[in-house]
Amino acid sequence: MNKMEFPGMLERFFGYVKIDTQSNDDSKDSPSTQKQLNLSNKLKDELITMGLQDVEETKWGYVLATLKTNQPMDKKVPTIALIAHVDTSPDVSGENVNPQVHKNYDAGDVVLSSDGKLVLKVEDYPYLKEQKGKTLITTDGSTLLGADNKAGITEIMCALEYLIKNPDCPRPNICVLFTPDEEVGRGTEHITVDDIKAQYGYTIDGEKLGEIEDETFCADTVELKITGVNVHPGYAKGKLVNAVKIGADIVEQFPKDRMSPETTEKREGYIHPHHFSGGGEQVIIKILIRDFEENGLKVKEEFIKNIVDAAAAKYPKAQIEFTVKESYRNMKIILDKYPEVLEKAVKALEMAGLIPIKNIIRGGTDGARLSFMGLPTPNIFTGGSNFHSRHEWITLEDMQKASETIVHLMKLWCE
Ligand SMILES: [Zn+2]
Repeated sequence: MNKMEFPGMLERFFGYVKIDTQSNDDSKDSPSTQKQLNLSNKLKDELITMGLQDVEETKWGYVLATLKTNQPMDKKVPTIALIAHVDTSPDVSGENVNPQVHKNYDAGDVVLSSDGKLVLKVEDYPYLKEQKGKTLITTDGSTLLGADNKAGITEIMCALEYLIKNPDCPRPNICVLFTPDEEVGRGTEHITVDDIKAQYGYTIDGEKLGEIEDETFCADTVELKITGVNVHPGYAKGKLVNAVKIGADIVEQFPKDRMSPETTEKREGYIHPHHFSGGGEQVIIKILIRDFEENGLKVKEEFIKNIVDAAAAKYPKAQIEFTVKESYRNMKIILDKYPEVLEKAVKALEMAGLIPIKNIIRGGTDGARLSFMGLPTPNIFTGGSNFHSRHEWITLEDMQKASETIVHLMKLWCE
């Protein structure tokens, strides 16, 4: 095959990042912000113009479309979903994004803001050295870039355009899905696997060139409700039982030098008390439990339970309720049952001339939720770095590689 070209990629990407699609953690609406629909509407129109079928925007702001296979009628091909999210992180503003292009990047520091204060330093991000000679795209220092996940959307759209213009390039049935509210953990709230109608999926939402992610944390939340006995403190001797003190006593016994987010990395899990509220009469403590193995969760929950039991014995007049809520599970549990999903992604990366890097995600993804809903969905790189930050950047060349990987991947699903 000749070198794949994706004309207009940069312009397409800029068109998307200039639309503010920041989602909102505090909103109960779906989508959490109406402005996300500005991009969803645009994508719907573009998919119709490109000639995709069954283009639909749901009332929740999900965009779905189908590109039919070009394989002979009698050949059985699966439907593969290509997934990206339209929203950007609530952490940093996405208003008036003004991307800066550094052609033939010299691998040096990049001054981002006009006052010179915000600098993308090679010393802080040594991976920049490997970008020498590429077309580097950064922010102007005032917003995030939105490569997370508008690079993924761009890469999917450019791959679709390529497949349409090159009808000799084999493709299965492709389902395109653009979701709202991924950044606030609600990207799969109003979609079902029946809506998607695919057998397997890929989110194009990773970072570094060549990375594939098939593992997420297993996650639970433990909630402790401590009820003490409230008495006027002036006359409380032998009667008052202070829930704040009991709560503090329990949290104090959690490990600090290990099993904490601030002291763990890679495959290590943790116990993270992230919420403590209430007063002398009642206290609520919420604790995030994370591990790559379900058994690791159980061990940590048991650890907390033992501390709670000891506190209950020490403060017999208090009541302590201990509840565990399941949040999500490691998608590897599902993906291991369908090894071809990852194998084909690895092969597609190699066909694009890349060295596949298998990565784990110390968090959850929409792909993890979709996998457990019945659509096995690992995550493929976009090429972006420093997501959710004013230091976010990407290169045009790595975006092209992501599109190329998608084209190869589609071909592999026809074999
Ligand atoms: Zn993302």
